Amino acid sequence: SKSAIVIGAGIAGLAASIRLAIKGYQVNVFEANAFPGGKLSEIEIKGYRFDAGPSLFTLPEQVEELFQLAGKDPKEHFDYIKLPVACHYFWEDGAQVKAYADINRFADEVETKLGEPADHVRKSLKRSAFIYESLAPLFMHRSLHQLKTWTNKDALKSYLKLGKLGIFSTMYKANARQFKQAKMVQLFNRYATYNGSNPYETPATLNIIPHLEFNIGAFFPKKGMHDITLSLYKLALELGVIFKFNSKVEEIIVANQKAIGVKVKGQDHLTDIVVNNMDMVNAYKTILKEEKQPKLLLNQPKSSSALIFYWGIKKVFPELDLHNILFSEDYKAEFDHIFHKKRIYEDPTVYINITSVYKPDDAPEGCMNWFTMINVPNNQGQNWDSMINEARKNIIAKINRTLNTDIEPLIEVEDILEPRTIESRTSSANGALYGNSSNNMYAAFLRHANYSSNIKNLYFCGGSVHPGGGIPLCLLSAKIMTEMVSKEKDPK
Ligand code: FAD
Repeated sequence: SKSAIVIGAGIAGLAASIRLAIKGYQVNVFEANAFPGGKLSEIEIKGYRFDAGPSLFTLPEQVEELFQLAGKDPKEHFDYIKLPVACHYFWEDGAQVKAYADINRFADEVETKLGEPADHVRKSLKRSAFIYESLAPLFMHRSLHQLKTWTNKDALKSYLKLGKLGIFSTMYKANARQFKQAKMVQLFNRYATYNGSNPYETPATLNIIPHLEFNIGAFFPKKGMHDITLSLYKLALELGVIFKFNSKVEEIIVANQKAIGVKVKGQDHLTDIVVNNMDMVNAYKTILKEEKQPKLLLNQPKSSSALIFYWGIKKVFPELDLHNILFSEDYKAEFDHIFHKKRIYEDPTVYINITSVYKPDDAPEGCMNWFTMINVPNNQGQNWDSMINEARKNIIAKINRTLNTDIEPLIEVEDILEPRTIESRTSSANGALYGNSSNNMYAAFLRHANYSSNIKNLYFCGGSVHPGGGIPLCLLSAKIMTEMVSKEKDPK
């Protein structure tokens, strides 16, 4: 039978292993860490459980599809709920807005709380839906690197609409046209951070993202985000996939311009096809260092990174939801710091994710598990120790001002994740969360393809290749990759 080796058990590597096993491949996954999931893992400290990385879950059908393909009922293996409130927003002047999943309720909320006409919200979300429907078939579900993607009828329809889809404007400009209240512009600009970009530079096309959250929905796996990893890992095992942990791949073995295996701990493992889930920049520096380097693609600016404090808080704040945002007073200055000055802004937007709101056993009785995160520049060798110390003080001061509290004495346990550890734990170039940033209109075309154009039998999936970072896109990358494998002739 045919065999495949997958390098990395990140979410895309897991999905790739499942899809290939279903296609009849005998799949071996080599993972450098001792556990699956890559960025989508979890940590536990003294009775508190935290999802370590991703916290927002959209497009759950991308996960469900993998169970369906394997002939299983997804609900029996992976359960989730739709959130009634996608996010609770706070400003320092006391303004608060709940982003209700029910669009009309959200529109009424912003009219009452912020003085933004309800109709503006409905119009804006219709526009998001229009962008999504025009572009998703082209940019998310297909390889951008094959001629036929550009000549099919979805593509031809999209060309006619490029101006309307906002490719020539920025997210900020489009939002400033649609909303009259600065707080609404800020709220909608935040969606640029969902793929680590700058709303003042990213094309307005990225206004596709609010469609996912409002028109389709924000979700939460009942057992926490880490259950996405665990349930897919179990599914892969059931399909006969073999996982080798603590097994860092040292080289992809190439002979006669064909990938024929990998080297691990000095030993060769031969196979019919190799699928790489490791970040592309670091892959070309290490396991593909002898091969031709696609410099243009590798040198694209990377997305932002994150600084996270996992805090066990010995108090319950009833005003806080699963997702909470405490907005900066000067969003433009914050993004200038992240993307241009490469420093952390002194008044950062603070995101607090609290899974114990929906999953009480994630924190001891009377306590909450706060995943407290700010967006920070990616790692360029800054003096992180001093920047993190300073940021910790600023974050605490911001929370105290906005929530009118004194948080420091309530912090019972603490752990930290930051750009250097994101890089060292998952081998992500510069500790970027989402591979390349999308800060210009060419970004979508400058991600690496899902296959190698000069090495046969070598394929790619994950957040640093097409169609991009974030769980849903990573899962789609595995799907596009597998479709390309299927089109090749049986290797034996
Ligand atoms: P990764 O998770 O990067 O995993 C790659 C794997 O490959 C790792 O396990 C690594 O150990 C392994 N590996 C690397 N090199 C080798 C080698 N040589 N040999 C063997 N194994 C190797 N996305 C969302 O959708 N929603 C969010 O809310 C969200 N928030 C985020 C917050 C944070 C703090 C972070 C870090 C990310 C967030 N993301 C979010 C992004 C999301 O986590 C990633 O896009 C996605 O998990 C990346 O998956 P991946 O398959 O590309 O691989």
